[in-house]
Amino acid sequence: MGVSLSMLASGSRGNCALVASTRTRILVDAGISCRETFKRLKSLGEDPRSLSAILITHEHSDHIYGLATLAKKLRIPVLMTGATHHAWAKAMRDAKGERPQLDQLERFESGHSFQVGDIAVKPFTIPHDAADPVGFTFRAEGIKIGIATDLGYLPVSVRDHLRGCDVLVMESNHDVEMLRGGPYPWSVKQRVMSRVGHLSNEALADFFVNDYDNSATFVVLAHLSEQNNHPEIARREAEKALATRGHLFHNRVLLAQQNQALEAIRL
Ligand SMILES: [Zn+2]
Ligand SMILES: [Zn+2]
Repeated sequence: MGVSLSMLASGSRGNCALVASTRTRILVDAGISCRETFKRLKSLGEDPRSLSAILITHEHSDHIYGLATLAKKLRIPVLMTGATHHAWAKAMRDAKGERPQLDQLERFESGHSFQVGDIAVKPFTIPHDAADPVGFTFRAEGIKIGIATDLGYLPVSVRDHLRGCDVLVMESNHDVEMLRGGPYPWSVKQRVMSRVGHLSNEALADFFVNDYDNSATFVVLAHLSEQNNHPEIARREAEKALATRGHLFHNRVLLAQQNQALEAIRL
């Protein structure tokens, strides 16, 4: 079977990915409805009942929308940091002011590795306007997968965590000119462009040109804005940047989608 990554959904209307080894299957974020998550898993030939755990990067709704229902249905561990859980529970109070329950909540700390089955998980802090946001690297069977979306810029610490990845899932949120000239109110534009907002095509290209170790067989562009980006612009920018180093053929660029699951990347 080997190790695989499936991008079930990516973008501001919901994020969800599946990282799987031969024995373990981890859902990363639960930003689409439970029903849609099940549907997309099945479209890839995956049985939702075979999931081992759900990991959450941060409490923004596009990452947790389906969590409560999924956790209830699947009865599997849900892992997030204490601060993320606190923020999630506060935001999810029901009409009576009751906080939602997660029967199998497990907390991790950013910077501290842990195991889920045979997958070693390392959460790392990312600059984003949430309580305690993290990216992840996953290691199993000699393969390393890195996921870094929802971050205003790429600090040295994040770049370090992303070294040696066989698959790299990177945010390519917006084209700076499209965002500037686009329909968002100025306050929202400022938030997106800030150091705790979202990563632009240009910032990602800069990373590829100047600091990327060329380790990945697959580069997945993720969390694309539907208003302020275009898939072909994001792809062109990334491929151009990777090609400046003469390495394009080693880095297949894929685009994660909002409305449908991307075929599994198998390693
Ligand atoms: Zn976010
Ligand atoms: Zn997001």
